[in-house]
Amino acid sequence: TEAITVSELARKMNLKASSLITKLMSMGMMVTINQQIDADTATILAEEFGCKVNVVSLYDETVIEKEQDSEDSLRGRAPVVTIMGHVDHGKTKLLDAIRSANVAEGEFGGITQHIGAYQVNLPQGKITFLDTPGHEAFTLMRARGAQVTDIVVLVVAANDGVMPQTVEAINHAKEAKVPIIVAINKIDLPEANPDRVKQQLSDYGLLPEDWGGSTLFCEVSALKRKGINELLETILLQAELLELKTNYDCRAEGRVLESKIDHGRGSVATVLVQRGTLKIGDPFVAGVYSGKVRAMFDDHGKRVDKAEPSTPVEILGCDGVPEAGDPFQVTENEKLARQVSVKRQELKKLEESKNVKKITLDNLYDSI
Ligand code: GDP
Ligand code: MG
Repeated sequence: TEAITVSELARKMNLKASSLITKLMSMGMMVTINQQIDADTATILAEEFGCKVNVVSLYDETVIEKEQDSEDSLRGRAPVVTIMGHVDHGKTKLLDAIRSANVAEGEFGGITQHIGAYQVNLPQGKITFLDTPGHEAFTLMRARGAQVTDIVVLVVAANDGVMPQTVEAINHAKEAKVPIIVAINKIDLPEANPDRVKQQLSDYGLLPEDWGGSTLFCEVSALKRKGINELLETILLQAELLELKTNYDCRAEGRVLESKIDHGRGSVATVLVQRGTLKIGDPFVAGVYSGKVRAMFDDHGKRVDKAEPSTPVEILGCDGVPEAGDPFQVTENEKLARQVSVKRQELKKLEESKNVKKITLDNLYDSI
């Protein structure tokens, strides 16, 4: 999917574009000077002139050079948690219960900002929750090459037991090699049967410790807000086993969780920082767009001037609306950010329109 315009390739090869166009015509391709040609064509063409092409995927995140980790730049980071489970088993209710369990009295009602992710602070540590429960968000992220979740909390209603989407969630988590913590929910119901849930889950390899397994289980009532703290502690316990460490000192990188155009504020993107520390003024690339961090807000809508790993932040200053799952990377300077952005947009357009038509001898005359 890499491409280059004829004029650019000519410049790089120190040749006139017309020579390339003539050559391409002799190869059966009719192109204009500003037209994109794909990497294969460019490679063959260059070889004709005795040049070698080094193909670098510009959509590839590795184009932006990564800073190396030094021994003392690595520090523990908060686990990033996604809640999954069958519909109506209480995912949304549980996210609400967790959120309210962790905000100061009276503050809960005042939270108007809603940014698709939030962080809870416990004396033992922080936990980041992705606020988009459900499998779609998880698989969408994965499909885009984004692994943002460290731990899946699988919600299973104690009255209903394992259902089709429960199994689906288990499969998604397993494929992603993300550990599962089981939250047996709705234990307040008289017909709740946690043992039956454990029995059913053991068929999928999720065995509690007291049954000789290694899966952590919690019994909760999202409705009555029971067992929430135990669940949070369990998440931290699981996180400890994962030894999540990252570089806090390098240029920030992460993933776009969501983005939109906001009246008066322009493009607003929620980004999960995964490595490094994001600061006001940092130039960046987000998907096919670029920008400079103009302002940042935390999950409470409070202005912040930096965001460390595992922190979700809303940022202003992007020149477009990137897609959920898009890579976010701070660059060395604004120029590089813009260059990468321009190139990615060209590639995207090219992919969308597929305007590169290979003309063969068979259809050469049809096209004239
Ligand atoms: P989701 O589809 O997984 O997000 O499920 P919801 O959070 O929307 O909950 C579905 C229904 O179950 C709602 O009517 C909730 O009030 C109810 N519910 C959620 N948690 C509990 C619980 O712990 N106990 C009881 N009795 N009901 C609950
Ligand atoms: Mg829901």
